[in-house]
Amino acid sequence: MQKSIERIAGDSEGVSYEFPVFRFAGADKAAPSAYLQAALHAGELPGVVAIDALMPALNKAEAEGRIRGNITIVPWANPIGRAQYHFGEHQGRFHLGTRTNFNRGFPLLPAPDAALLPNTTLGGADQRLKSRLVQLSLGHDIVLDLHCDDEGLAYLYIHTSLWPAMADCAAAMGVDAVVLWSEDTDGTFEGASIMPYQNAPADVAKFDRRVATTVEYRGILDVDGALAAADAEGLYRLLVARGVIADSALPAPGSFKGVVAPLENIDMMPAPRAGAVLYDVKPGDRVVRGARLATILHAPGEADGRTEVFAPQDGVILTRRSRRIIRAGEDLLKLTGDRKSADARSGTLED
Ligand SMILES: [Zn+2]
Repeated sequence: MQKSIERIAGDSEGVSYEFPVFRFAGADKAAPSAYLQAALHAGELPGVVAIDALMPALNKAEAEGRIRGNITIVPWANPIGRAQYHFGEHQGRFHLGTRTNFNRGFPLLPAPDAALLPNTTLGGADQRLKSRLVQLSLGHDIVLDLHCDDEGLAYLYIHTSLWPAMADCAAAMGVDAVVLWSEDTDGTFEGASIMPYQNAPADVAKFDRRVATTVEYRGILDVDGALAAADAEGLYRLLVARGVIADSALPAPGSFKGVVAPLENIDMMPAPRAGAVLYDVKPGDRVVRGARLATILHAPGEADGRTEVFAPQDGVILTRRSRRIIRAGEDLLKLTGDRKSADARSGTLED
């Protein structure tokens, strides 16, 4: 394994950012290659600890000559967000300088060619970081972007062009749900990892072995040794199932038994009032249309101080907020409905 340090120039003299990259060289040039990154939203750490738990298995595979395809690992993908503290609170989701979400504004190249990347010399540091992350990941057959939600199940975002071909990956990782999307207008990292291949010739696109996904490892507080070990095993099973690592002792993943739904089936449930949220449901709960999901307490002690929110359709609770304070219009939860949501928000995934 080789470790190198990436350097991203900051927006003023004397400021720069660094992050490590680990590379395992594969023995077989024809074998699929894999790229894993975590903490693009810099405060989302379940993927960081999962990578840490995965490294001993990769080192062992390397020592035993079982690494077939190249593996590139970026455990801290966002040193800019990692350093952002505002009044004592960490702010890892948006770049404070531009107010841009760190998982938006990635270049969506027309073809998988790093030469097409825009010149970011005169752009901001966040643009330089995004360009570099695309450059590091481009050309790998498997690209995993490890995130987490607020409170949630373990689930994957997958482009429709890779489904159901990636069902084995979902099974290997042991996630609970898969959300399928088809359109990226905002430039997510996952979009930057799959859209360039949509019009590529078959021998470049290689859709039979391509993997690109945003992995949502449950909630922001699910940073835990046992979960990290289980997630690392899931990542390892995926790498073995897709031929990046050889391990004859490992059985092939079974069929995926979790929830699969298109993005337009997700009801985000905006809060009708501001106040304190009293949830009736938690991630994983199955609900029927009309079931109470939450009560917003907006005028404590007053007779009409509560507003209830009900399920618009049958489905499974995918996520909810980790904090209980809410403003009117903010999303209460994600309900993965059995049918298309009445206020379906097409386009970009909400990660
Ligand atoms: Zn995220």
